[in-house]
Amino acid sequence: MKGWAWGTVPSSSCRRSLAGVAGICPVSALYGRPVRPVHGSVLPAPPTLRSFVLSSSASAVPSSTSHTTVSAQQPQTSQGQPPARGRGRKGKEKDMPLQLPNGHDRLLLHSCCAPCSGEPMQKMVDSGIDFTIFFYNPNIHPVREYEIRKEENIRFAQKHNITFIDADYDSDNWFERCKGLEFEPERGERCTVCFDMRFERTALYAHEHGFRVFTSSLGISRWKDMNQINGCGHRAAARYPDVEYWDYNWRKGGGSARMIEIAKAEHFYQQEYCGCVYSLRDSNKHRVSQGRERIRIGELYYGLPPGEKPDFVTKAGQESGEGDEAAISGLLQRERV
Ligand code: SF4
Repeated sequence: MKGWAWGTVPSSSCRRSLAGVAGICPVSALYGRPVRPVHGSVLPAPPTLRSFVLSSSASAVPSSTSHTTVSAQQPQTSQGQPPARGRGRKGKEKDMPLQLPNGHDRLLLHSCCAPCSGEPMQKMVDSGIDFTIFFYNPNIHPVREYEIRKEENIRFAQKHNITFIDADYDSDNWFERCKGLEFEPERGERCTVCFDMRFERTALYAHEHGFRVFTSSLGISRWKDMNQINGCGHRAAARYPDVEYWDYNWRKGGGSARMIEIAKAEHFYQQEYCGCVYSLRDSNKHRVSQGRERIRIGELYYGLPPGEKPDFVTKAGQESGEGDEAAISGLLQRERV
């Protein structure tokens, strides 16, 4: 179930004019407080434009209210003890319930996609942690890929009765911030800007909605530089004295392997590039140089043969990919990349 939570959506030109004031964040222009940009001349944090709040207990929850709909409990044996799983150090770590840092009792989880956040979400559900998923990823291109990734995440959230915040897809701001960084390699400066943007918005939401701590699923992927991600997370949190970033290592204790297990069990959509149009371009270049086919959006699902889709695949996933290629190459030509 889905509903408008609050706010209106300023037009792109409005956003650009607000952001055009040197050193003034569009957020601060809207809220009247200056925010120092962290990347020189790049556009600072995106404004709080809109959010959908999904909850199994309400069709439209005002975003000003708190969201505490996690109901899953840690599984118990008949003796009332948590079930023993695994062996050795990794097994022990895996079995230990997760605890939020510094006595916090509520968390905002920035999710980049369902496969990456599957393990963090499952671990927190198993540990009885009260958390909300925040989906803010305007980097993902094209829109069809964005919709598929988001729908996958919503499906998992609904299954576990977890509140899901569907934040704005303000891709105009993302492209503005990444100007001049189009040819950066993955894990380079463009990725720092990309993480900064997503975490700045997450930190702002946390600040405005009473979350004292936030974290992200981004670091679970071995393709990512965890230090780079954590640096961006801490920098975003430093904007607000009442918010901290939790740099928990989701890979440890067998987290990376469980991420794949969960993705297969859930038949999550298997994306084949990081997310932005530049990563899609570079992944395709690499594949072509290896004599492989170009990426076909909406084709692969974990645990299923190529082209086979699970029954629950959403409309976004079933739609034809025709036009994706034209839209992507048109964009790359416009951007001269
Ligand atoms: S490669 Fe990934 S992290 Fe880097 S800018 Fe693109 S979407 Fe963002």
